Amino acid sequence: MREHKEKSDTIGFPPNFESAYQGEPPWDIGRPQKEYIQLEQAGEIVGSVLDVGCGTGENALYLAAQGHEVWGIDFTPIAIERAQEKAAQRHLTATFSVLNVFELHTLGRTFDTVIDSGLFHVFSDEERLLFVDNLAAVIRRGGTYFMLCGNELAPKLDYSKWKDLMPDVYSNLKDAMPDFDKLKEGDFGPRRVTQAEIRELFQDGWRINYIRQATMEGRMEPGVGYAWLSSISKE
Ligand code: SAH
Repeated sequence: MREHKEKSDTIGFPPNFESAYQGEPPWDIGRPQKEYIQLEQAGEIVGSVLDVGCGTGENALYLAAQGHEVWGIDFTPIAIERAQEKAAQRHLTATFSVLNVFELHTLGRTFDTVIDSGLFHVFSDEERLLFVDNLAAVIRRGGTYFMLCGNELAPKLDYSKWKDLMPDVYSNLKDAMPDFDKLKEGDFGPRRVTQAEIRELFQDGWRINYIRQATMEGRMEPGVGYAWLSSISKE
């Protein structure tokens, strides 16, 4: 497990994305996140879109279906394969590639909008800094980064329930982390990000349009879904 020494509590989650995707991971709900549907309907998603950490592509494919030019990147090959399969099945055009977000600058192009559903909150403090640099390289001036991340109001995860609620996820996590059963409640999970952390990170060269309380849907027990939805434009 990765060690973190940051302000917000956290744990490397999951220990291994490749193994999480062997089952159906808790975040992979098989439909777009409601917050992204609402942003699109409100006209806030403009032009070309890059979905960072796109997973199996539901948000990207939803925006492609609304007529946006969409690229999705993720460093987990199995997730990208699934996204590509879904695009073909649904007759949608979107470009999905295996790429680490810390290499975003190698894309060699910019987008009007970047969306993030559940990526930012897996980064350590050091990774956040690298990520913001990479983000700046792929978003045009005046373009906007939308981020949906877990917040500090979220209840700590109680994975003792996962064995029954999500046996597939449980057994894959247990394979990847033999000590999984010994973890205490809240020892494990995405970071619970504070507004102050977001404001501090994006203070130079960015304009924070809003950070508002939102819901991140998941396959976990009801009530887990406290998130910040941030809209941040590049100056
Ligand atoms: N956006 C998707 C997936 C969220 S889970 C959804 O809403 O369902 C976070 C995703 O980020 C995982 O698919 C994981 O493979 C990916 N990821 C984590 N760290 C990454 C990195 N450094 N580079 C690229 N992708 C990363």
